Amino acid sequence: MSDCIFCKIIDGEIPGDMVYQDDRVVAINDIDPKAPVHILIMPKKHIPSLLEVEQEEQNILSHIMMVAARLAREKGISEKGFRVVNNCGEEGGQSVGHIHFHLLGGRYMQWPPG
Ligand code: 5GP
Ligand code: ZN
Repeated sequence: MSDCIFCKIIDGEIPGDMVYQDDRVVAINDIDPKAPVHILIMPKKHIPSLLEVEQEEQNILSHIMMVAARLAREKGISEKGFRVVNNCGEEGGQSVGHIHFHLLGGRYMQWPPG
């Protein structure tokens, strides 16, 4: 996707503060962090949102969750707790059309979210 900001970061066209990558996913620090730890985990493949994940590629979702747990441990937020969030669509608060999961931690999280 030539006009996708996250694809450009994944392809190295623009800089991204990468904290993890493997053959299927990348994780970058959010440019505008909402918590002391705020990492975005996404597939390398351009998938616009949760609604477009195909049955055959559903394993990417569990893989992203496992990477989230690994990064939570690495960043020192696993013991106190953390949150993993996917915003989907306009009312869900999604602003970038390349599926990604927010890993947030390092402060107390409110519930319900705004
Ligand atoms: P959404 O609102 O779609 O759930 O989350 C998009 C997130 O991407 C936001 O938290 C926003 O701060 C972050 N973001 C937008 N543009 C960039 C960028 O160019 N680099 C990085 N690292 N994060 C970005
Ligand atoms: Zn993309």
